[in-house]
Amino acid sequence: MSKKYNPYDQMLATLDKAAAIVNIPDSEYNFLKYPERELKVALPVRMDDGTVRVFEGYRIQHSSLRGPCKGGIRYHQNVDQNEVKALAAWMSLKCAVVNIPYGGAKGGITVDPTELSERELKNLTRRFTAAILPLIGPNSDIPAPDVNTNAQTMAWIMDTYSMFQGHAVPGVVTGKPLDIGGSLGRPEATGRGVMFSTREILKKLGKNLKDSTIAVQGYGNVGRTGATLLYEEGCKILAVGDVSCSIRNMNGINIPELNEYVSIHGLIKGYEAPGVEYISHEELLLTDCEILVPAALENQITEKIATQIKAKIIVEGANGPTTSEADLILIERGIICIPDILANAGGVVVSYFEWAQNIQSLMWNEDDINNKLETIMVRSFQEVWDTKYQYKTDMRTAAFIVAMTRLVEARKIRGVFP
Ligand code: GLU
Repeated sequence: MSKKYNPYDQMLATLDKAAAIVNIPDSEYNFLKYPERELKVALPVRMDDGTVRVFEGYRIQHSSLRGPCKGGIRYHQNVDQNEVKALAAWMSLKCAVVNIPYGGAKGGITVDPTELSERELKNLTRRFTAAILPLIGPNSDIPAPDVNTNAQTMAWIMDTYSMFQGHAVPGVVTGKPLDIGGSLGRPEATGRGVMFSTREILKKLGKNLKDSTIAVQGYGNVGRTGATLLYEEGCKILAVGDVSCSIRNMNGINIPELNEYVSIHGLIKGYEAPGVEYISHEELLLTDCEILVPAALENQITEKIATQIKAKIIVEGANGPTTSEADLILIERGIICIPDILANAGGVVVSYFEWAQNIQSLMWNEDDINNKLETIMVRSFQEVWDTKYQYKTDMRTAAFIVAMTRLVEARKIRGVFP
């Protein structure tokens, strides 16, 4: 029987691999193996039928070495402590790889949000905020949206936190609605970063976005925006999928038309157009295309999938979509993988811009934000690319080397307390 998937073990495996390549002794990086703080909370919520249900939630701060902890909050039925721990560590590494002044954290509630009404979700969010109140704050730990949470969720968190403080504190969360201190460009930022990462890897291979063929798994904030921006750059989106179904059109899907459908119906299921066929989620991952963008959840590109993938390039819109075992197969097969901590960092980069605006009470314009995001994504991509060549390794290990080196350096400079 194969070992049960544990995302935290996956994170540790890559960390050890990167450390071995640059000869960092265990004693210098072992602090990265332990989250600084883990908080598990029980959340009683009165449901619409009058009963009380108790949900479990987490906020885990992996590192505050390079700045306040930063990272999203997800609502999903499979959320558990190991997942949140791994996601928190990936945030520390992500913020370090793009060199923004944050550490890493993540939060989550084990809940299927589609089963809850709006009122129940609001109360769950407010109760969770109250429960993690000792940890969060604009100088200590700043949540943001993640899987199944959005600007409205952030507004509830910001309001609850502000009520306890007695004044408005917009900088306590990012990814807020514009009217309460959100930033232009933030909703599209992760997808835009995925588009820049795809463009940069194609450039390195002497190609460009125009007419590149792409399959996108996941049609939430990241997948949908990524697919839309890539489509606008002239890519052919051959396949897309969400929880409800996967579809394919080898001549290219009409993304604006699909988006109109999804805006009305919420999901892809039911969309019909000439040339569009319904396929399985596995077939989507195995689509005959140049680039695969997994933008859903962890543990999607498994060993079995990796041996059959036809794409030449993978750009990880999701966090942790490829298992470490599958990674080895991809490397052996010469498939280039732009890792999550680089490819999907656009979101947290613009979160940083949002927070920077909030704490100074400034408002930047959208062009400035998108240009600054592009500068950071291109620079970070180049640094990881150079590191890959310097150490003759793959892009994921190179990204980990860049991030770890910065974190280890920060540890050295700050010293060990007391
Ligand atoms: N949840 C996003 C991520 O995984 C964004 C985090 C943030 O903006 O803090 O990168």
